[in-house]
Amino acid sequence: MFSGLEFPKASLRESERGVCEMTSQKITLPALLVLLCACMVENLSVEENYGNGLNVSLPEPRAYIPDAHLLDFVYHNHEEMTRFLRATSARYPNLTALYSIGKSVQGRDLWVIVVSASPYEHMLGKPDVKYVANIHGNEAVGRELMLHLIQYFVTSYTTDPYIKWLLDNTRIHILPSLNPDGYAVSKEGTCDGGQGRYNARGFDLNRNFPDYFKQNNKRGQPETDAVKEWISKIQFSLSGSLHGGALVASYPYDNTPNSMFQSYASSPSLTPDDDIFRHLSLTYASNHAKMSRGVACKTSSPSFENGITNGAAWYPLTGGMQDYNYIWYGCMEVTLEVSCCKYPPAHELRKYWDDNQLSLVKFLAEVHRGVQGFVTDSSGTPIEKASLKIKGRDVGFQTTRYGEFWRILLPGVYKLEVYADGFIPREVDFMVVDQHPTLLNVTMQPAKGYHMYNLLKLTTTTTSIPRTPSPPKATSDLISFPE
Ligand SMILES: [Zn+2]
Repeated sequence: MFSGLEFPKASLRESERGVCEMTSQKITLPALLVLLCACMVENLSVEENYGNGLNVSLPEPRAYIPDAHLLDFVYHNHEEMTRFLRATSARYPNLTALYSIGKSVQGRDLWVIVVSASPYEHMLGKPDVKYVANIHGNEAVGRELMLHLIQYFVTSYTTDPYIKWLLDNTRIHILPSLNPDGYAVSKEGTCDGGQGRYNARGFDLNRNFPDYFKQNNKRGQPETDAVKEWISKIQFSLSGSLHGGALVASYPYDNTPNSMFQSYASSPSLTPDDDIFRHLSLTYASNHAKMSRGVACKTSSPSFENGITNGAAWYPLTGGMQDYNYIWYGCMEVTLEVSCCKYPPAHELRKYWDDNQLSLVKFLAEVHRGVQGFVTDSSGTPIEKASLKIKGRDVGFQTTRYGEFWRILLPGVYKLEVYADGFIPREVDFMVVDQHPTLLNVTMQPAKGYHMYNLLKLTTTTTSIPRTPSPPKATSDLISFPE
């Protein structure tokens, strides 16, 4: 459908961003056309300023030829994985930063490696994305895929223009194992079953997050508490959660208001961003060697049309990580089920890498589709925690401390609603095209002295706004993440 995505190559410094906004008066069709043309001209002029060609499409990412001396296609236990991550961060200090978001029940570090041209510092205006794997300890393929992806990124940066573009414009955080304790008691060659699925206290980590639809009484575990704190500190715009036991990209919502009565006839539970989630899921599935064929893993398991499914339509669950990411933080997360066998023999790992390599890269690149920009006051000071919403899509998101925002959207015409304490709410029309993200800066005017009538109107509008619950307060300041 939107397969012809051409990626921007160069980053734009803030001062040189093409800004294409218009106040929310009633727009007539001719005015809209003028607006659309103006946007295109604006973007074109930005491209022309950057002679290295925003409008030239990049080649496909190259095939990765693994270096057996660095990382073989075998499973790595926690110590070996730790050694690999440490060695990689030592060998590629300009492209990687290694940090731990906490420890598992049994004290194993929950390692995250950032891979980016700016591993230690946030790049103003550029998004952060993440992969989290091995949430279920016995689903081991994703864990090894992450190690190979890390190595692929660092070894391809200087030779592959696509990877260079991706790392120059994105900070990619990779958590290869959220459940190292479960992995430690899992058995290679075991395709099904639950041994190693849970953490060391017997909790299913993908049922352990706060839930929007149902009360979740499960006690927070060290592993999920670490994730909650992590994503409260770094704003992620796009995320993939890797699992095994099926071959499908499954998107929110995982839960539904009425699942209790639908245990044998699951129905879809769709988000207001269903078009985006379907697109992201299709991006993964269609770049995968087999997933989009939608062939069932076994005769007794379901087959998925085009290799994608809504989570609740497959089976509803409470306390999943992807709904939490999306509803609490506006992060688009998709669950990627990458192997029919949960823990296949090591000699099959190369095949899994070959099948998933392109998907893993292309999925992350989708963060550069849609709209991005800054919210500032009239003096240009960034406004933190401004509440944003794409009109008609009732799940909101917020600006960062630098006033930045990102939202993945398909080509079309949209309205951005912006609310910030002490400022007059604004609606801004904008257009999204296929070839590059729309850059949109929004200036807010102080509400002081605003007419009482408008204030009243403002109050009534504001109450219907973001249904995003307030993010939970961080429980500790001890961990400092590279931001
Ligand atoms: Zn799983």
